[in-house]
Amino acid sequence: MAEFTMELNDEQKEVRDWLHGFAADVIRPAAAEWDEREETPWPVIQEAAKVGIYSLDFYAQQYFDATGLGIPMAMEELFWGDAGIALSIVGTGLAAVGVLANGTEEQIGTWIPQMYGDANDVKVAAFCSSEPDAGSDVASMRTRAVYDEAKDEWVLNGTKTWATNGGIANVHVVVAVVDPDLGSKGHASFIVPPGTEGLTQGQKFKKHGIRASHTAEVVLDNVRVPGSCLLGGKERLDERLARAREKAKSGDRVKNAAMATFEASRPAVGAMAVGTARAAYEVALDYAKTREQFGRPIIDNQGVAFQLAEMRTQIDAARLLVWRASWMAINGRPFTAAEGSMSKLFASETAKKVTGQAIQILGGNGYTREYPVERMHRDAAIYTIFEGTSEIQKLVIARTLSGVAIR
Ligand SMILES: Cc1cc2nc3c(=O)[nH]c(=O)nc-3n(C[C@H](O)[C@H](O)[C@H](O)COP(=O)(O)OP(=O)(O)OC[C@H]3O[C@@H](n4cnc5c(N)ncnc54)[C@H](O)[C@@H]3O)c2cc1C
Repeated sequence: MAEFTMELNDEQKEVRDWLHGFAADVIRPAAAEWDEREETPWPVIQEAAKVGIYSLDFYAQQYFDATGLGIPMAMEELFWGDAGIALSIVGTGLAAVGVLANGTEEQIGTWIPQMYGDANDVKVAAFCSSEPDAGSDVASMRTRAVYDEAKDEWVLNGTKTWATNGGIANVHVVVAVVDPDLGSKGHASFIVPPGTEGLTQGQKFKKHGIRASHTAEVVLDNVRVPGSCLLGGKERLDERLARAREKAKSGDRVKNAAMATFEASRPAVGAMAVGTARAAYEVALDYAKTREQFGRPIIDNQGVAFQLAEMRTQIDAARLLVWRASWMAINGRPFTAAEGSMSKLFASETAKKVTGQAIQILGGNGYTREYPVERMHRDAAIYTIFEGTSEIQKLVIARTLSGVAIR
């Protein structure tokens, strides 16, 4: 187990500074343009691939950092640059984590490289769990996967929604119902390989924020995938379903595949929120020191200075919660107080609040697109929604603390 320290080591600092340079020099200058275009910023993803930021190697290196701080540090810096572009760069990671969490060694080796492509031909991947009637309520999922034993193929039918990179992805990871009697325990994850017939993009959504990230419906119409595309394999699925049936009889709880993916990624979303909050705070601090009213900089007023003090305090507190959860995860510490959900809840609410305060400090300028804080405020709203809303985080925390199945 890595010894606990409050400081990044030299190697981490080097990576952080390198990422910060990319965020400042490449991502931030492109942010306003891609926000207005509401399109995937392929040239920026390609730049990230060229320098090695958009790659399986980089992601794996940060993911397996023994302190647990590799991913939160990377997320904070990239999202400091711009949330929409950064999500386009890291969105593939959610699908990759889905495969890492549930796939066999062979599946990991086969599919994750195809999710990223290479610097000359970059690809993205999508993780498709949510449906029009199954957002927070994952158990209401309707997309069905039926096994065709004669052909050793799975047949997928249904409609997924709000999928980041949905329809433009090279590889889609799709969560589907294999045993409707087991609720969310009867779900399994499948790879839909590039060019598979029957998978199409439905509506592409126009959004409030993170507009440089593509969000769309994914329609699955008799999509046939080989048996080898079931993540974890058929034997493991059959064992898991048998265990779930037993546990259902005895009333015990078991984790399902999609939940395992969300569990692992929540502190990372908290880190994204910290990045956006920090970016807005820095703009507000600079502005407050230079903007003069009543013959003095506005920061001379306690009303403004105290807001900045609160903003920074909350950002630092959010980062510490994120780092604690990430450290616990890599060291296999049980989340006895749902510390991962805590970190996501606090960081996402902080980002929403802090970016709003930043607009107030910039006054009329803050409200215009001449300054970045209005975009950051629009972007920040997503953190309290995806990967489980704030209300769902509170539900998870309260249930974990109390042992009561609070509804
Ligand atoms: C930009 C964007 C990108 C996304 N990317 C992906 C992706 O890549 N893959 C994917 O699978 N999904 C993705 N999602 C979906 C996202 O995870 C869901 O939107 C989210 O889980 C919430 O589900 P919902 O929108 O159906 O809200 P609902 O579940 O309908 O919730 C609506 C409101 O009711 C509240 N609520 C619901 N149940 C309870 C309860 N029991 N107690 C208290 N309050 C409750 C919620 O907190 C919320 O405030 C994305 C969404 C967006 C907007």
